[in-house]
Amino acid sequence: MRVLGIETSCDETAAAVVESAAGRGGRILSNRVLSQLEEHRPFGGVVPEIAARAHLDHVDRLVAEAMAEAGLGFAELDGVAATVGPGLIGGVLVGAMTGKAIAAVHGKPFVAVNHLEGHALTVRLTDGLDFPYLLLLVSGGHCQLLAVEGVGRYRRYGSTLDDAVGEAFDKVAKLLGLGYPGGPAVERAAAGGDPARFALPRPMKGRPDCDFSFSGLKTAVRQAVEKAVEAAGPLDERARADLAASFQAAVAEVLQDRAARALARFAAELGRPGPLVVAGGVAANRSLRAALAEVAAAAGAVLVAPPPGLCTDNGAMIAWAGLERLRLGAADPLDFRARPRWPLEELSAPVPEPAQ
Ligand code: ATP
Ligand code: MG
Ligand code: FE
Repeated sequence: MRVLGIETSCDETAAAVVESAAGRGGRILSNRVLSQLEEHRPFGGVVPEIAARAHLDHVDRLVAEAMAEAGLGFAELDGVAATVGPGLIGGVLVGAMTGKAIAAVHGKPFVAVNHLEGHALTVRLTDGLDFPYLLLLVSGGHCQLLAVEGVGRYRRYGSTLDDAVGEAFDKVAKLLGLGYPGGPAVERAAAGGDPARFALPRPMKGRPDCDFSFSGLKTAVRQAVEKAVEAAGPLDERARADLAASFQAAVAEVLQDRAARALARFAAELGRPGPLVVAGGVAANRSLRAALAEVAAAAGAVLVAPPPGLCTDNGAMIAWAGLERLRLGAADPLDFRARPRWPLEELSAPVPEPAQ
């Protein structure tokens, strides 16, 4: 089975073709991603209207490139998948309309993909991982722990009460003058820093639930920056690196504590330890991956994470989520509406389309 996937929910315009492999997992035949970094950099963050226009300018070309690289014509596809939410509505509409138009013109099934399910199922494409698994979803807009029991079957253990973890990385990058996009910049700065120099809080650590909170940590970084500037003038490179490292260490410790709680609950439900998966843009961070591998090992479980390039937004994850739904017999009508808000727990397991 071969599926084209289109992703336009934030600031990446992406198109990819994936194919199911014999047995488990899949193969990526092409994966084109265009990041709109330069368009948004002057504003220090994603501007929705600029993003929508950029998607409109580039999506057709990216689809053509993805098809050419895969060496396929539209007639050879088994389906077309596009992100229909959650995300910035202008961008989502561009990708969804493009996918629907291609499906309609070529008489192929259309699959309306939830962007978060794309992140959630990527490890099944790359590693052929079986259900069930515990998912730590850490991205620009989300921070959640969920039991993943099947396609469309998610049970939430906990989530952030305020900021998403990627959002915290982006805000801290801004505070430190590291620019946009923030996550990779903080990781780079932290690599040369002293994680013990600044004492920062570990919000929610030790609490009996699986929830998160990052706004207090971000405020603590702002106060530490203000204090350092007051004492010694504008931040030098050393101070920046130490602040970035101290922040990243605090995040790592919180994620470890929350994931350990969830792993214990998941093992109790399952009767044995189950795999921990980390996905979403923040999962690209190598020191966080290492920290999570530690807690998984301590719980007798394995950590499975997509390669860093498939943690941040891409078309392959959307194509794959579409393929998983299609091969269970599901497709969506062409009047399926875009959804700016669409939590994973509101998804349902695919139900085959009734024969017409
Ligand atoms: P969502 O998936 O919740 O809708 P999104 O699609 O905008 O949000 P992703 O593309 O999945 O988010 O992830 C982007 C986020 O990941 C940004 O906040 C970015 O700073 C963060 N990020 C990317 N690379 C790293 C890294 N190496 N370390 C930490 N954070 C990172
Ligand atoms: Mg992005
Ligand atoms: Fe994402």
